[in-house]
Amino acid sequence: MAENKIPYKIYLDESEIPTQWYNVRADMKNKPAPLLNPATLKPMTHADLAPVFCDELIDQELNDTDAYIDIPEEIQNFYKMYRPSPLVRAYFLEKALGTPAKIYYKFEGNNTSGSHKLNSAIAQAYYAKKQGLKGVTTETGAGQWGTALSMACSYFDLDCKVFMVKVSYEQKPFRREVMRTYGASVTPSPSTTTEIGKKILEAHPGTTGSLGCAISEAVEVATHTDGYRYVLGSVLNQVLLHQSVIGLEAKAALEKYNVKPDIIIGCAGGGSNLGGLISPFMGEKLRGENDYKFIAVEPASCPSFTRGKFAYDFCDTGKVCPLAKMYTLGSNFIPSANHAGGLRYHGMSPILSQLYHDGLMEARSVEQTAVFEAATQFARVEGILPAPESSHAIRVAIDEALKCKETGEEKTIVFGLTGTGYFDMVAYEKFNDGVMSDYIPTDEELEQSFAGLPKVDL
Ligand SMILES: *Cc1c(COP(=O)(O)O)cnc(C)c1O
Repeated sequence: MAENKIPYKIYLDESEIPTQWYNVRADMKNKPAPLLNPATLKPMTHADLAPVFCDELIDQELNDTDAYIDIPEEIQNFYKMYRPSPLVRAYFLEKALGTPAKIYYKFEGNNTSGSHKLNSAIAQAYYAKKQGLKGVTTETGAGQWGTALSMACSYFDLDCKVFMVKVSYEQKPFRREVMRTYGASVTPSPSTTTEIGKKILEAHPGTTGSLGCAISEAVEVATHTDGYRYVLGSVLNQVLLHQSVIGLEAKAALEKYNVKPDIIIGCAGGGSNLGGLISPFMGEKLRGENDYKFIAVEPASCPSFTRGKFAYDFCDTGKVCPLAKMYTLGSNFIPSANHAGGLRYHGMSPILSQLYHDGLMEARSVEQTAVFEAATQFARVEGILPAPESSHAIRVAIDEALKCKETGEEKTIVFGLTGTGYFDMVAYEKFNDGVMSDYIPTDEELEQSFAGLPKVDL
């Protein structure tokens, strides 16, 4: 079909929503390293994980071999509420940039949680319900995951206990109220409701919290309360699996118009949206069927891929979770206080870490003022007010499109627009007032944090 016939939005039919998730691990020669039991340093077994996670989710976590896993009908039905998500041709942005590049973005912000996180939240809530549990616990940083999970839990009538990083709890009261509207209970973390929270507060009085602390609290409550398990919104293999629905839809939409992307870009916090978007394309690359350039974009103030170490590390501050082998800044790392752009987690998905380590993917770090410049430029021409996290991907998509302008290459660029930024207006305000600053951690600061890595010889 002729190029100019590509519509502004490529929608799939409801019947084209994937009925199976794609598990990229099946096609990886070097599998991601297993989670380790922090006490024995042996790979975590199903039995080790059972007190923390739901049974079927553990199977998915440990499944390195099945390329396709059926999406249960109840989840498919829920997906119909807000999927398929549109793949948008950014004609207006292309024009504004004067680039010969063709830019597409997969927009995941069309649901109340405002992000892609609902794709995994509904799956995790479903398996918890199926197992007959009463409820789940989790942590949330900026609040998108907590919101998505509270929506999913209310759908399946499950209790949902959210530990929300204290600084966000105070600065983002509206996100908190959305969660409560869907019936979740929200506790600012660190709190005095858990042993680990009390310990952290004793060691760091007045701390405004971190994702690592909130994870420790949520795991403690899940493992000490009958009928509860813990769920996590990123990083884990199972979450990338659920998010593959993004990439499968994007690929199907592009194939309708015979478009083959050259570059696929996504922001990377724990790696779930990027992993989900690239999975089916990466599968083709791994099987030698096609080649693509993949770029992970992370904040310069939290540079796990570009400056982290590929090592076993704790997933949480309280060191109660299994060890994961990943690109990490060390579990004590907390981005500087002026960092407003999200993507604050110290580690990265073990799947993406392995792919990056094997040279199958690239990574780039960007400073937040440049990210908000890109966000503003995008909002003004494409209409959507992007989440700060998503805007990391916009930044690099624009940079790549401007390179094409110089070279005259007509590359096709696809990026993930993970969500909307309506609850991030304090960050936008800082940018608009010209008081947003960049902070890049020094090598000494990172070395200090690396010193806390566990000593694991394998
Ligand atoms: C959580 C979130 C991210 C980052 O998480 P990943 O697991 O790296 O995808 C990116 N964008 C939005 C809008 C989010 O809510």
